[in-house]
Parts: sequence; C-alpha cells; structure tokens
Amino acid sequence: MEQQFNRHRRLRSSASMRSLVRENHLRPEDFIYPLFIYEGENIRNEVSSMPGVFQVSMDNLQAEMEEIVAHGIKSVLLFGIPKTKDACGEQAYHDHGIVQVATRYIKEKFPEIIIVADTCLCEYTDHGHCGVVEGDKVLNDESLELLVRTAVAQAKAGADIIAPSNMMDGFVTAIRAGLDEAGFTEIPVMSYAVKYASAFYGPFREAAEGAPQFGDRKTYQMDPANRMEAFREAESDVAEGADFLIVKPGMPYLDIVRDMKNNFNLPIVIYNVSGEYAMIKAAAQNDWIDERKTVLEMLVGMKRAGADLIITYHAKDACRWLKEEE
Ligand SMILES: [Zn+2]
Repeated sequence: MEQQFNRHRRLRSSASMRSLVRENHLRPEDFIYPLFIYEGENIRNEVSSMPGVFQVSMDNLQAEMEEIVAHGIKSVLLFGIPKTKDACGEQAYHDHGIVQVATRYIKEKFPEIIIVADTCLCEYTDHGHCGVVEGDKVLNDESLELLVRTAVAQAKAGADIIAPSNMMDGFVTAIRAGLDEAGFTEIPVMSYAVKYASAFYGPFREAAEGAPQFGDRKTYQMDPANRMEAFREAESDVAEGADFLIVKPGMPYLDIVRDMKNNFNLPIVIYNVSGEYAMIKAAAQNDWIDERKTVLEMLVGMKRAGADLIITYHAKDACRWLKEEE
C-alpha cells in the first residue's frame, strides 16, 4: 500500500529513541541562583511568597553556600538587604556594603563559584527607586554615577560579572568605562537589557525589600506590549559593550528571547522571576500540578526558546532532579 502520511511517531517509540533525538538539554551550568544577603545576625527568613527561598545573614551564608555547591550550582546572583537605607543608596557602593562583604567571603571560601553582582540602587534607597530621585522623577545621568561606583565596588570585592539592572539609559557604557578605568577590563557586563515593567516581580519585592515607596518603574522599565523596543534596548547595550543580554521575566516573554537569540551574538540569559516561581510553588502545594515535571518542562522550554543561561529560584531543585535522572 502506498504511504499517504509521515510517521513522526517512529522517533518517539521508546525512552531511548526520544533521548537519542532530544534537541535541548538542561545542565547545572545553565543555572544562576539568586541569593538574598541580609545585613544582621542569625537571620534565615523564608520568603513567604517564595517557599524554599531564604534571606540569610552572613553567619548563615556558609551553610547556604555548602548547600548550593552540593546541588552542583556553579553561579550565584547576589542581592543585598542593608540595615540602613538612604536617599542615595550609599550601602550599594560602600566597601562594607553587604554585597561586597558577601562577595569577599564567597570568593575566599568558594573560589570556583561565579559571583554575579546585581548592580542597582533600589534595595539601598529609602524611596525604593533604582536611581537618584528628585521630586517624583528618577534622574538618569545622576543615577549613572552611583551605578558606576557600585559596579566598581563590587568588582573590587571580587565579583566575576557585573549585572546592572536599573534600566537607566547609558548604564552599560558608563559601567564599562568605570570598570576599565578602575583596572577591571576583564570583568564582563551582564546587562538587564530587556526588562519589562512586570507584575511578576511582586514576590521579589518582599524578598529584597525594595518596593518603590511612590509611583512605579514604568518610566525606566519596558511596556509589556512592546517588541520593537526590545530590539532598540538590546542594540544599545550591545553597542555600549555588554557581554551578556538578559530578558526579564521569562515565561511571558519567550518570543522576545527567540528574537534576541536570532539577532544578537551574545549569550542570552532569562531571568525566571519570583512571580513565575511563586505560581508554580503555590499550584504544587495544592497538588494541582506536578512540580518536578512542570519546572523541568518550563526550564527546557526556555532553552528551546533561545536562552543560554537561566537565572532561577528553581536551580537547587532542578539540579537535584537532573542528578536523579542520570
Ligand atoms: Zn532596581
């Protein structure tokens, strides 16, 4: 009998056959785990909207890092929660700022771990905005100077990658120049190039205690409805010397991730944000979904969409599950 159709099922006939033709894979090296370092003592607070994610003080960092290393995670992204906040976010760039202290500690005890330093001011400013505020405006050029100071302080402390997240215009150029001038020509910049003004950041603001005290971030973060704007942002950051491009959040923006992958020859990073994590956790706690299968499907979907790296709160679980599947 003449064949009238294609037999696609031939390549799905067994687990071994499916494994043979699998196009995308997850590895522990793909993940960057966000860490919240709390200035103080004896602190290990679970973030209520992010079960399994903890704010830790320095005295609990050793145990947290041992757990991270045991899971096989190779990179961490550091956020700081300082004891004191002020209008200019001084603790972001002070030599004894909490991220600098944690960076020096991790570099000394766990030298093989890649430290990505989030470079922003919102966790350190009393108004909770990502830059210098005048009246109800967030000033662009005045903010750059403080960002550069923060990046240089982080590099001095031993950060391997500087990740500016505040979406001020010119932030990559300013930080690149500042790092070079301070002698850190070899430190790459992982730019939050395409960062949308997203409702999915809600739980993070509890974790990092950096919610804006007035207004919102729509004058610097992008409109979720826009695609061409992502190209403009990414083109600028590439021209300014970025070494990585981040798209944030992940799940609702996988089309943008594919656009970035197809159009720019830099490693593309997804930030799989707190709200995405919280949704899966909440549904799993209700037994509405299978957490393990859902998370691994989501993460491999991000790689398929074009992500080379994924910043994710699921990193510990994902590494553990991948090991169990070996
Ligand atoms: Zn910020």
